[in-house]
Amino acid sequence: MGEDKDKVCTEKSGIGYGYIADNIKVVENNILSACKRSDRNIEEVMLIAVSKTMPVEALKAAYECGCRDFGENKVQELVDKYEQMPKDIRWHMIGHLQRNKVKYIVDKAYLIHGVDSLRLAEEISKEAVKKNVTAHILIEVNAAQEDTKFGVSIDETAGLLENISRLPSIEVEGLMMIAPYVENSEENRQYFVSLRQLSVDIMKKNNDNVNMNVLSMGMTGDYEVAIEEGATYVRVGTGIFGERNYNS
Ligand SMILES: *Cc1c(COP(=O)(O)O)cnc(C)c1O
Repeated sequence: MGEDKDKVCTEKSGIGYGYIADNIKVVENNILSACKRSDRNIEEVMLIAVSKTMPVEALKAAYECGCRDFGENKVQELVDKYEQMPKDIRWHMIGHLQRNKVKYIVDKAYLIHGVDSLRLAEEISKEAVKKNVTAHILIEVNAAQEDTKFGVSIDETAGLLENISRLPSIEVEGLMMIAPYVENSEENRQYFVSLRQLSVDIMKKNNDNVNMNVLSMGMTGDYEVAIEEGATYVRVGTGIFGERNYNS
């Protein structure tokens, strides 16, 4: 069985089923260990397979291994893959979303991770009303205050949430962060702690339509530290599918 799949995947994409299956096992074991170290329940931590740039065959292999949460950062790519993949997948829009593209994904994304302005939230709300759905979003926080990253500052987050909480058909589920790229994941622990603390502070404000159940933080280089500090979604791409090739 595994061998057949291996052949199919390898022929079509050069990425074997066995390779992806092995990687997923490693990641799942690491998640389990991080949960044990921090005395957390494994069920609190969800793995998002970040499949951007990967061919559908690679996603199918991950799906066969049990993955149901996939992360994409481009609207067109998410829509294309949405159409080709099974319908029980939860699609996570993890990239910066342009307002003029909201209409294409508002009824397809299970969770929109990168909301960092009222204008974007208003557009999501407007399109959700039109399509008669509730949009679930995360606020992207730039905890390390990097110039190159999207996201609101820690200080701006509560104000933005207060305004978003008044919009119809939109539900805030929590916070998201893209931590700095670092060699040693320990350097990012401070930012994971800040995001967690921020979510606790916001929870106390009890805004309507604002939940703080989700902390989307941690990528291939630092997801174990992120879990130790409270991540509920980790977004792992390279660790599952291997290096991305942006030129092809
Ligand atoms: C690409 C991407 C990831 C996955 O990165 P890896 O280092 O390959 O795990 C996670 N989150 C976001 C927002 C991304 O754009």
